[in-house]
Amino acid sequence: MSKHIAVLPGDGIGPEIMEQAVKVLNALGQDFEMEWADVGGVAYANHGHPLPQSTLDLAMQSDAVLFGAVGDFRYDTLERALRPEQAILGLRKHMGLFANLRPAKCFKELTGASTLRPEVVSGLDLLIVRELTGDIYFGTPRGRRTAVDGNFPGAPEAFDTMRYSVPEVERIARVAFEAARKRNKKVTSVDKANVLETSQLWRDTVTEVARDYPDVTLEHMYIDNAAMQLVRAPKALDVVLTGNIFGDILSDEASMLTGSIGMLASASLNDKKQGLFEPSHGSAPDIAGKNIANPIATILSAAMMLRYSLDMNDEADRIEDAVARVLEQGLRTGDIMSEGCQRVSCSEMGDAVRAALR
Ligand code: NAD
Repeated sequence: MSKHIAVLPGDGIGPEIMEQAVKVLNALGQDFEMEWADVGGVAYANHGHPLPQSTLDLAMQSDAVLFGAVGDFRYDTLERALRPEQAILGLRKHMGLFANLRPAKCFKELTGASTLRPEVVSGLDLLIVRELTGDIYFGTPRGRRTAVDGNFPGAPEAFDTMRYSVPEVERIARVAFEAARKRNKKVTSVDKANVLETSQLWRDTVTEVARDYPDVTLEHMYIDNAAMQLVRAPKALDVVLTGNIFGDILSDEASMLTGSIGMLASASLNDKKQGLFEPSHGSAPDIAGKNIANPIATILSAAMMLRYSLDMNDEADRIEDAVARVLEQGLRTGDIMSEGCQRVSCSEMGDAVRAALR
């Protein structure tokens, strides 16, 4: 049976990088049924909403969603609900995508592209498991009001609510422990339990879940320490389990370890294995339309889609191997360029990965 993929390129560099990923998928010789739809700023322009009902329906009915990026400064002044970035939050919520998996892997050819010393990042291979549907990003109440207490009573203020329930923490913890079983059997759970009630509940719950995984070592780490360890000794980390806001920040920090945000894939999964697969970066308006963006994060996201949602491990391996081979050949987009390498465009990188498929 053919696999049904919703292809949502989005804004900025989204269409350019998506074209490369689709090119590579089409070269696998498999039966994919791909259907395109607007999302983000382009969807607002064409349909009046960043996540039109037709796009949401397509996503819900597909086996997996391949997503480019959203964000367009022209729509920054719209009310929050209509801004391009709301599309991604809406998809996560409607599809029940509670688990975000972001590998941070340093290809040996790119150790020089990292801002850290090669010995710190060489061989790095960690996985950040971030909870996606709760925390301060979705917690209510939220809003603006006049302060009745605090440091400046009577002043205008804004507030958000950080909250997690036990079942929410349990299910994401299980994703992390299961992932750890397939890796090096170690989970580092990141919180701020010395300050936040939410984090104390997080820590208690993760500790409880860990009893079901006696073969996996669990350690707890405060977010400030984790931010430090990630640049001091990142190879000591393997699976990093954390909540929505801490994970957002840590995964971007981890991206820098690998040399470029243009290399980082990501998967968001629900409990039915349906997923949304997207590069970790945004729409990069500064380089959009120039055919210079790095498409590898999107190509590797397509590989994660094959592995995690479509049960096509061999094809996922083929794509990942092809990316490694292209890097070995010395081909680089501008963001990962180094001396002695050959600079290629976004489309040339896509062509090279397709040609390197075995
Ligand atoms: P960004 O990730 O778009 O860009 C940050 C920097 O990295 C820029 O200098 C950009 O040129 C570079 N970059 C990003 N991807 C690259 C690639 N594939 N190849 C080469 N260089 C790359 O983040 P930003 O500038 O903070 O945000 C731009 C827009 O994207 C905003 O509207 C933001 O809201 C949105 N955004 C969307 C997502 C998403 O769709 N998941 C994520 C983050 C930001």
